[in-house]
This record gives sequence, C-alpha cells and structure tokens, in this order.
Amino acid sequence: MGTKGRAIIGLDVDELLKLLNKAFADEWLAYYQYWVGAAIVKGPMKEAAIAELTEHAADELRHAQMLTDRIVQLGGTPITNPNHWAKTANCAYLEPSDPYITAIIGQGIEGERCAIDVYSRLLKLTEGKDPITNQIVLSILTDEVDHEEDFQALLEDLEEMKKRR
Ligand code: MG
Ligand code: FE
Ligand code: FE
Repeated sequence: MGTKGRAIIGLDVDELLKLLNKAFADEWLAYYQYWVGAAIVKGPMKEAAIAELTEHAADELRHAQMLTDRIVQLGGTPITNPNHWAKTANCAYLEPSDPYITAIIGQGIEGERCAIDVYSRLLKLTEGKDPITNQIVLSILTDEVDHEEDFQALLEDLEEMKKRR
C-alpha cells in the first residue's frame, strides 16, 4: 500500500475497498457464466454467440484483474476464497440451465444491465474523490455498455432471421 496514494482519496477507503471487492466478485461470476455458456450454447447462430461469449468472458477476467490491481494498491485484499463470490457479488450468477441461444444471451443481457448499474454508481461515487478508481470504473463501464449492445444486437439478428424464414 502507498500511504500517500491512499491519503489523497476523498472517500472512506475501507468502504471503497468493500465496493471494489463486490464488483470483483461480479466479474468472476460473469466470467464463468460466459465461459461455460460458450461451451454449452446451442441453436441457430451459435457460432456468433460463442464468439461474443468468449470475447466477453476475456473482458470480464480483465476487469477482475483491473479491480484487483487497484484493491491491492489501496491496501486491500481481493477475495481469496471463490466460495465467497456469490454472497459478496452485487449481481446474481445466472446459471445457464437452458443452453438454447436465446436463453443464454438473454441472461447475458440481464447480467450486463446489472453491471452497468453497479459501475454507474461507482463512477458517481468516485467522481472528484478518487480519479484513479474513477478512470478504471469508466473504462470498465465503457466495456459493459458495449457488451449489452453486442448481446442485444445478436438477439435482434435472431428475431430478424425468424421473421424472414
Ligand atoms: Mg463483444
Ligand atoms: Fe465486466
Ligand atoms: Fe460485461
């Protein structure tokens, strides 16, 4: 932990660390949801779904890394026990119990919307108080907005295909 780096933050750092760890848990669950979704997805346009799910899984893992780096920098510890992810997370883990593409991608949209809410709140909270975390959160939020759009576009293409058949 850098003492001065921590001292310049205009927020309760321990409270901020709790919120960063909650987001960290969200990212691991999202990563796994997409990773396993890519492995089992079925139905028309499944190749496109696999490509999006695989890309998004990699992004969520990268987000987990970005959050971990900041948590450690602030003197915190990222959750060390995966058993604690689900109970710490903001967003529910949406188990892909139905492997059909519309179900998997629908759950993805729900997850991205939850993530957008989480990072919008963190962005407001850190605005003018912690520019470094604010910048990290903005970068993650930018990806989550992109993810929601990617998944929605895929569902729209599927709908279009159904109509034209
Ligand atoms: Mg994408
Ligand atoms: Fe993410
Ligand atoms: Fe995402």
